[in-house]
Amino acid sequence: MSSPRVDVDGVNVSPDHYINAERIASSRTFEDRSPLDWTWKLADVARAGSVEADLAVTAAEAAFPAWSTRSLEERGAYLERLAELIDRDVDQLAHVECLDMAMLEESLKRRVIARGARNFRAYAELARNYEPRRWTSNGTANTVLRMPAGPTVVITPWNAPFMLSTWKCAPALAAGNTVVLKPAEWSPLSCSMLMDLVEEAEFPPGVFNLVQGFGNEVGVALVGDPRVRRISFTGSPETGRFIGEAAAQNLVPFTAELGGKGPFIVFADADLDAAAEKAAVMYDDGGQVCLAGTRLLVEASVRDAFVERFLVATKRHVLGDSREPATTISPLIHPEHLARVDGFVKRAKVNGDTVVFGGQRLKRDGLWYEPTLIEPKSNDSEIVQREVFGPVLTLQSFADETEAAALANSTAYGLSAIIYTSSEARTERLGAVLRAGTIWVNCFLVRDLTAPFGGTGISGIGREGGDYALDFYSDLKTLQIKEGTTHG
Ligand code: NAD
Repeated sequence: MSSPRVDVDGVNVSPDHYINAERIASSRTFEDRSPLDWTWKLADVARAGSVEADLAVTAAEAAFPAWSTRSLEERGAYLERLAELIDRDVDQLAHVECLDMAMLEESLKRRVIARGARNFRAYAELARNYEPRRWTSNGTANTVLRMPAGPTVVITPWNAPFMLSTWKCAPALAAGNTVVLKPAEWSPLSCSMLMDLVEEAEFPPGVFNLVQGFGNEVGVALVGDPRVRRISFTGSPETGRFIGEAAAQNLVPFTAELGGKGPFIVFADADLDAAAEKAAVMYDDGGQVCLAGTRLLVEASVRDAFVERFLVATKRHVLGDSREPATTISPLIHPEHLARVDGFVKRAKVNGDTVVFGGQRLKRDGLWYEPTLIEPKSNDSEIVQREVFGPVLTLQSFADETEAAALANSTAYGLSAIIYTSSEARTERLGAVLRAGTIWVNCFLVRDLTAPFGGTGISGIGREGGDYALDFYSDLKTLQIKEGTTHG
């Protein structure tokens, strides 16, 4: 049975799961509130447990044989149709996701939701264009084939839920797997809207399913189900460990894209204006961006010159309602998250770290936290070593390239690194030694969907992106034919 659909500021959204091409309610629900105004309840969303997890995996398992044996062209056509529908509904999707998680509506429209459509198009094309590796050795002709792996569970976090979910579901579906998606409980609505489009694109029942609910309830049930053959997770390192343990029990390959504490390294030979402008961007979306370079590491000789420019760039930020085009810093997602961010800053103060500016929640109703800069007492300070996931940056200086690299590599994370320099030789040296899945030089967040993406250390296990993702969602096998024994 399904529940009535909900009017979310003029957009009609289902609060239910989507299993086997049907909207299904649960006996329990959870409240979904807007971070733009915490008194605003957007929906009572269906709260799945083990029963719904079982239904969804059963549907995905039943749909797998037919979906996995369709041609790459046929599967690609479904994905491309879905991409068209996302493009058509981009404004509505952006509006609801803005209300649900407070990311800036303009950037959702222009960039983030549109990236969801790009994800489906890119993987339809990549899967179709697969050129199997072929070679001869030991008198045999060898070919590497991709075999669809089976029902796949995708679990995603609350920041940019639509983009991050489609980033994983698109290659899984293109590779021939069926999917059960569980988005985060703090921002569940845009993924529910995606399921309306899946229905409109007439995906066969059971191919693409959605369950809503909490990690410790339905999440645990999904990752523990032995019928699941791939798990793809994005979220915190703490949950990543749990997912890894569950995957190990069933010997299921998994990827984990986890938190970050990226260095933002500025050398004396850099364009300091450009570096300072980009550093101030690290406060965008309330700093709730895993890839952000949150540790500013600046060569000592240009520290003051950089900080002066950085202060000017930071002052241009406008904290406000994410629906307003003038706003650049959104509120944080949830009161609990605001308290977590504030807890980091309070402990930093007790630790003797110096708050250069900010350091408290904005003195007005709402979930905004001031852009904050902290000079740590030492590199061991918690504020340097742990991900805050809020608008809080640290500032340290270094004497030379060797010290810069040592500081950059001194946390347990390794998701991203940003370098500002004009030296090509330095770029090559640091590119070789920095521990990070992605290193951006004189830029940030430029994404090529064919590049490998992931983290080292506690920032993740495995790589997605391009053929790396299609390989992950497949079982690779080698076909060996004795040369001269087959004809025609
Ligand atoms: P989280 O780990 O708390 O939750 C992520 C998802 O896991 C949610 O859907 C949650 O319901 C589910 N979950 C929680 N416990 C579970 C369990 N025991 N079993 C199965 N599922 C469970 O993370 P979050 O707070 O939603 O997201 C913020 C984190 O995500 C930050 O650390 C951020 O850096 C990281 N992140 C990483 C990337 C990346 O690409 N590397 C991208 C975005 C966010």
